[in-house]
Amino acid sequence: MSRPAAERAQVIVVGAGPGGSTAAWHLARQGLSVALLEKSEFPREKVCGDGLTPRAVRQLVRMGIDTSAPGWMRNRGLRFVSRGRTLELDWPECSAFPAYGLTRTREDFDQLLARHAEAAGARLHTRTKVTGPLLDRAGRVVGVSTAGPGGRERDFAAPLVIAADGVAGRLAVSMGIERLRKRPVGTAVRRYFHSARHLDPYLESWLDLRREDGRILPGYSWIFPLGDGRVNVGLGVLNDSRTGAIQTRRLLETWLARTPAAWGLREPGNAEGPLRGAALPMGFNRLPHYRDGLLLIGDAGGMVNPCNGEGITYAMESAELAADVAGQALARPAGPARERALEHYPAQMAYRLGRYYRLGRGFSALMARPAFTSLVTQHAVRSPGAMRFMVRLLSNLTDRPGTDAMDHLVNALIRVTPSPADHAGRRFAGAPSVRPGRSRVPG
Ligand SMILES: Cc1cc2nc3c(=O)[nH]c(=O)nc-3n(C[C@H](O)[C@H](O)[C@H](O)COP(=O)(O)OP(=O)(O)OC[C@H]3O[C@@H](n4cnc5c(N)ncnc54)[C@H](O)[C@@H]3O)c2cc1C
Repeated sequence: MSRPAAERAQVIVVGAGPGGSTAAWHLARQGLSVALLEKSEFPREKVCGDGLTPRAVRQLVRMGIDTSAPGWMRNRGLRFVSRGRTLELDWPECSAFPAYGLTRTREDFDQLLARHAEAAGARLHTRTKVTGPLLDRAGRVVGVSTAGPGGRERDFAAPLVIAADGVAGRLAVSMGIERLRKRPVGTAVRRYFHSARHLDPYLESWLDLRREDGRILPGYSWIFPLGDGRVNVGLGVLNDSRTGAIQTRRLLETWLARTPAAWGLREPGNAEGPLRGAALPMGFNRLPHYRDGLLLIGDAGGMVNPCNGEGITYAMESAELAADVAGQALARPAGPARERALEHYPAQMAYRLGRYYRLGRGFSALMARPAFTSLVTQHAVRSPGAMRFMVRLLSNLTDRPGTDAMDHLVNALIRVTPSPADHAGRRFAGAPSVRPGRSRVPG
């Protein structure tokens, strides 16, 4: 049987997680023809904490999603627990971000976003697994090959492809874009529990994550109320040679045994479904974010925030930028002019997040030192002012330009962080610098 003719689009998006569906929505809204290819069928599970900070909510609002509709659970801030002390902090009041976060299971959330992209005009193909890139003679991506239901093979052709296929980054790897091994990676696990406190208005985060031998690890555990009778419970730890191999299941059990009885997490009968885990690719741990017609967004580009393990926001923000850049590039003739437009994507990603992620990588390196972790977990929760500052810094929630002293301090800290080099050792010009003439944009 002959292979059917390739289906054509102006942009192909591989993977319909939050990154892929957001990209497809923004592309479709520009009137571009978009093929959104997803290997699974919705609704489908995705291992996640299901937590959205105000920064993520802003992205949903930008896409016209009604977050007051049934199905969304609002939270008003974070509750920190450390060494027996508790501190509740509301989300900061910012001009740029709403003052609430949300939770929603990824089973629901991802389906909603994919349907939203479809409603905007994207052509969603589920049960369509991308098996590799199609390349022209120059090695440029001109489409992808797929395997559909029953192994049916089909090609999709487009001048641009967005890789939103998640942490394994298979499409990027097939183009020779490997993970940067020195950049941080975390491991996270989660499980659902039925809990009488499923309507609690705070996301709870425990900072003193202890191994059985008492050693405090770089990471945190969480209880995120879902408002549907359940809470999402889990933990994330930084993989670091100093911490050694971590048995996340044991770690979770040890922690659950410490949680107050009111949550109901010590009752194995309250658990629903298995414990599941996945890697967290952090701090731009895959570069470059653009090469030969392929743009990387979200986890495929290693974009999880190394400060707090948040990935959905950055998948959605990179998606919006990639869609904008793709639209500009396609408005130019193929060749050097279009290529120049496409190079704007990695440069902008670096400009927007490079210094911040470098600061975050420094913070995670410090957290891997037992003495520092011990100090932080002992003192942080005792000082509301310090924790307020940490929330703004670690959740990347400041106005720019700043509107109060704390904003100014966080923004200054980011500005004075030296810009890192990109994968090829280059430093781009253009980021605002505190010292004129020394501006650098990181990779
Ligand atoms: C335990 C855990 C807890 C977490 N908690 C949070 C949290 O509370 N908040 C937060 O913001 N982040 C959290 N994260 C991180 C977050 O889950 C990711 O950063 C986010 O899902 C990245 O979105 P994405 O669209 O880039 O990739 P993904 O969500 O991984 O989506 C990739 C999509 O591509 C599809 N795909 C893969 N390969 C192919 C292929 N070959 N062909 C077609 N389709 C393909 C997949 O099926 C999937 O639908 C957590 C992660 C873990 C592991």
